[in-house]
Amino acid sequence: MSAPAQYGSVTPEVVRLLAGIAGEANVLTGETRTDYAHDEAPNFPPVLPDVVVKPPDTASVAAVLRMADERRIPVTPRGAGTGLSGGAVPTLGGIVLSLERMNRVIEIDAANFVATVEPGVVLGDLHKAVEAQGLYYPLYPGELTASIGGNVATNAGGMRAVRYGVTRNFVLGLEAVLPGGEVIETGGKYFKCSTGYDLTQLIAGSEGTLAVITRILLRLIAPPGRRDIVLVPFDSLQRAIDVVPKVLREGILPVGIEFIDKDVAGLVDRYRGKEIPLRGFEAFLMIILEAESDEAMQAQAARLGDICLEHGAIDVLVATGDRARDMMDFREKAWPAIAHAGNAELIDVVVPRSRIADLVRQVMDASRQRGITMYTVGHAGDGNIHFAPLVPDAPDAKQRVKGLFREVYRLGVAMGGTISGEHGIGGAKREYLDIAVPAAKLALMRRLKAAFDPRGIMNPGKVF
Ligand SMILES: Cc1cc2nc3c(=O)[nH]c(=O)nc-3n(C[C@H](O)[C@H](O)[C@H](O)COP(=O)(O)OP(=O)(O)OC[C@H]3O[C@@H](n4cnc5c(N)ncnc54)[C@H](O)[C@@H]3O)c2cc1C
Repeated sequence: MSAPAQYGSVTPEVVRLLAGIAGEANVLTGETRTDYAHDEAPNFPPVLPDVVVKPPDTASVAAVLRMADERRIPVTPRGAGTGLSGGAVPTLGGIVLSLERMNRVIEIDAANFVATVEPGVVLGDLHKAVEAQGLYYPLYPGELTASIGGNVATNAGGMRAVRYGVTRNFVLGLEAVLPGGEVIETGGKYFKCSTGYDLTQLIAGSEGTLAVITRILLRLIAPPGRRDIVLVPFDSLQRAIDVVPKVLREGILPVGIEFIDKDVAGLVDRYRGKEIPLRGFEAFLMIILEAESDEAMQAQAARLGDICLEHGAIDVLVATGDRARDMMDFREKAWPAIAHAGNAELIDVVVPRSRIADLVRQVMDASRQRGITMYTVGHAGDGNIHFAPLVPDAPDAKQRVKGLFREVYRLGVAMGGTISGEHGIGGAKREYLDIAVPAAKLALMRRLKAAFDPRGIMNPGKVF
């Protein structure tokens, strides 16, 4: 796609300049660019970048941005391309700036409980590096091949958010390059800060629209002694979800609470080619617990089991070791299994926990009325629900699904929630942003964007 007239083009001279900055082998203009035309957002149209550049360090990122800013060429930062909102798709063409070569764990500072990493480090590698030092980075946004830069830029959440929160809660500081090439550092190896505006938290979650993140300081903690999963079947999804606030009110703080209903469980079983032991129930909760010792785990699981049984659970099963890992794999396969079942879209709405059951019921009703098959799976402990409508094979399918999207988002916002809990707005959800963000706030966001990026080169066509 060619960029609007106000943008400059990627000329042979620009390609030569990029090769001078990053080395010829790290500038792609041929067929391999197709790998950089898409992310994992379902049905989001791919766009071929004019050029891909893979800088090796901060100075090269700065040189690329300075050159792009002078010529007003769109720049789309890219981590691992696992995003689910089209954020890394170069909507207006131009330059894809891939951080994949900046993948060093620079330091694990055990004394201060801080990891310093480059943005291209992938989550699975960070976990290993931190664990090798006897420490713990607890966040687990489902996809281990995602980059830490991408996790920060999308403020990724995942399955351990009930206890630990989301990525921004673990970001202590950043190095970032502004569009003109200026390098800034925010935050530091400290936990308290009342020194001016919090730019760390402004850049976190900004989806590549303000600056390129080139270094990240992450808070670490001591590892838990043990992690188990308690599986709790119910005779209805409603009953399963209703138990969540009761568990939390009793002072038990699980790492995560996931719900899965029987339709999704059936799809995952078929996808994985094996059945989990919980067939025949309408829905179940997967409650992930961590504890320092075996005794503490047993006490926690027993108390949790009692609460669930008091409130309508049919059974309580504790999965440990390999069985717990298999259950995690089962949950992680929910989205791939749904996507495998048909042409599925993905909605990532979040509401206050007390409204989850209402939201699920109303969304399921709305889908039935529109004749659209809807799957749901979600992070019941933190209010973040994923709905996956199957796009029907009909001439008016697009319009019907868009109408359903609007209705789901309106319901979520009316219940005190918002339209994305963890995947970001990217390109896929920007047409719905007005449902969640009132005009005055939107105007302020635009002014902030203009302050960082006056020439509008950073990931244009995203968020707004
Ligand atoms: C199977 C599967 C399961 C998933 N499960 C979860 C989950 O449980 N929770 C969750 O939150 N997400 C989940 N995701 C979504 C995805 O993994 C996250 O959004 C992740 O944070 C994206 O990281 P990435 O490196 O792939 O980023 P990309 O897709 O490459 O980019 C995402 C956005 O970040 C920007 N960006 C990337 N790097 C930088 C940088 N260095 N500086 C500035 N901007 C940058 C891009 O411009 C883009 O807007 C899942 C995805 C898949 C495929």
